[in-house]
Amino acid sequence: MLIEQSRWKVLNAAGRMDTVGNKVAANEIAMIKVLTPNNCIKVVDTAIQAFGAMGLSQDTALTGYYAYERHLRVADGPDEVHRNAIAKRELAAYA
Ligand SMILES: Cc1cc2nc3c(=O)[nH]c(=O)nc-3n(C[C@H](O)[C@H](O)[C@H](O)COP(=O)(O)OP(=O)(O)OC[C@H]3O[C@@H](n4cnc5c(N)ncnc54)[C@H](O)[C@@H]3O)c2cc1C
Repeated sequence: MLIEQSRWKVLNAAGRMDTVGNKVAANEIAMIKVLTPNNCIKVVDTAIQAFGAMGLSQDTALTGYYAYERHLRVADGPDEVHRNAIAKRELAAYA
């Protein structure tokens, strides 16, 4: 469900970028920058748990995936910065 949710949100953001442009689609873009890495981390974490100790070993690529997804929550701007930007734009619509 988390993978499917991410796919639809990314598809929606890409569609908005194509139809209304990046500036108008800024919130959809910011949302996928938060949602997708967080969802991926949860999926990989579940897989690690399912594999038990093997999931934490070098016999699988799972810990590598975890580290990769984890860095995306910081590298392209911390989640908090994207969340604040989303909130400001959402609230501005009602000001
Ligand atoms: C692998 C990797 C690749 C990177 N690639 C690039 C790149 O190509 N180009 C580039 O410009 N930068 C790049 N960066 C830098 C990245 O953008 C910064 O690390 C990121 O913006 C966080 O800044 P900081 O590390 O100084 O942490 P800080 O700014 O000190 O933030 C630390 C924490 O404080 C909190 N925080 C920070 N600001 C706010 C805020 N406004 N509101 C609420 N909470 C906040 C968050 O929890 C955040 O995680 C990369 C970083 C990594 C790790």
